[in-house]
Amino acid sequence: MVRVYIGLGSNLADPQQQLRSALEALGRLPGCTLVGVSAFYASDSLSPGQPRYTNAVAALDTTLAPLELLDALQAIEADQGRERKARWGPRTLDLDILLYGDQVIEEPRLVVPHYHLHARPFVLYPLAELVPADFRLADQRALSDLLADCPFVGLERL
Ligand code: ATP
Ligand code: MG
Ligand code: MG
Repeated sequence: MVRVYIGLGSNLADPQQQLRSALEALGRLPGCTLVGVSAFYASDSLSPGQPRYTNAVAALDTTLAPLELLDALQAIEADQGRERKARWGPRTLDLDILLYGDQVIEEPRLVVPHYHLHARPFVLYPLAELVPADFRLADQRALSDLLADCPFVGLERL
């Protein structure tokens, strides 16, 4: 079993319900156990003119290999009506692999740790709810340092 952290986001079609449905789907995945969920957070979209986002982070123990997990997450996104038009367009559901144990993965379809983890308050603050205070990423960056460099600005804990 590997402990992975999944970032969830939605800004269409009842975002909080989208996240709840996605969490149920994550819990039903073969070889996976949902072991923790952060609070939900709201924030303005990084892209102008889009509805506000709801985000959360889930902790999952899994026997799925990284690309198997990515396939499973993309299937859940598709089930919940995710349309891939423009990158960073509004979406019913986004499921990103933030961390996969302490593995560093650099493949065409999958980069882990997620490349923008360190810059996104709507990822770092919910992640911090699920890990010990002295948590470090695979590259030894301390989560506390990333949080210190990423102010809790524009984020609303729901
Ligand atoms: P961002 O990556 O900035 O959060 P996004 O989540 O909106 O943007 P998507 O359209 O969901 O981007 O995904 C684009 C591609 O990113 C996917 O097809 C997937 O192969 C790839 N990808 C690379 N690394 C990851 C990761 N860690 N988790 C999920 N998808 C990833
Ligand atoms: Mg994303
Ligand atoms: Mg994504």
